[in-house]
Amino acid sequence: MRHTHSPDPRRWDGSRAVSHRVRALAVHPAAPSRLLRCGQRSRCVCCAHVPERYGRIEQPPIDLHPRELPPHDVPESPHWHVTAGIALAQPSGAPWCRVPHSLVCPARDEHPLLTPALRDLRRQLAVRTRCLIDSGAFFPTATPAGDQARTSCSLPRPVVQILHRRYLAPSPVSDLRCVAQTRTRRRCRTRVAAPMWPGIWTLLPILDTSYRRSADRRLMAVYDLGALPYTEQVRWRNQRGPEHLGSAAPDLLPAQWEPFDTRIHHPHIATRLPIETSQAPAAAPYRSAHPSSGVPTC
Ligand SMILES: [Zn+2]
Ligand SMILES: [Zn+2]
Repeated sequence: MRHTHSPDPRRWDGSRAVSHRVRALAVHPAAPSRLLRCGQRSRCVCCAHVPERYGRIEQPPIDLHPRELPPHDVPESPHWHVTAGIALAQPSGAPWCRVPHSLVCPARDEHPLLTPALRDLRRQLAVRTRCLIDSGAFFPTATPAGDQARTSCSLPRPVVQILHRRYLAPSPVSDLRCVAQTRTRRRCRTRVAAPMWPGIWTLLPILDTSYRRSADRRLMAVYDLGALPYTEQVRWRNQRGPEHLGSAAPDLLPAQWEPFDTRIHHPHIATRLPIETSQAPAAAPYRSAHPSSGVPTC
């Protein structure tokens, strides 16, 4: 009997049914970085929208609005393009360009150079944010300007010492999330902090950025991971959770540490240890590096 099944399946109306194969992408085992160069998304904590994050040359990553816009709808200065996964702020001759999310974020003050088209886009985003807030799906928790209170006892962006280098954390230590991609292609929800290997809050001298001891003899609060094994410190620096230690899973975004610079990050220098010990994983103990400093409280 002849096989009558057609290898070219068609729908009831005769149109061709196209089945899309799921492409399984993987990072090459020999690649020095496990970071995916596209598809990195991060939800804005101010407005709940999801911009796309791209790396820049010798600068921190930038969040771009996912939609492409005609250049005449965008002010002159922020004409962004993405080339090979790198965001560039320069004209490319293309009939479209991208804009930073900060330009249209409805939680920020309106930029004075907004064109009518961008103002409309910002208004649409504001309506969506309002709907999310009204439905209880989103609770704005952060200030868009990034101005955290210097006198806060909870250290919203603490300084962490890893492998003898200091970094400014993007969030409280206990809230730091793994950046690896899970099997569902989402960002891992596991915390980086592991109860088995807690760091120690300590007061250390403020060092200037030229690696010389500063004349400033004040001490600053540092979450010191120096007592942890080397592999654990590398895991912290790569911002990976314990379950992704040594895993071949790619990273959805680069590690969010900023190399600590006293000239740039001086608003985040805390001269007292945080009072909320619950923010430190596994109730990290306190230690004072200065014999006469004691443990001041806020
Ligand atoms: Zn936003
Ligand atoms: Zn993870």
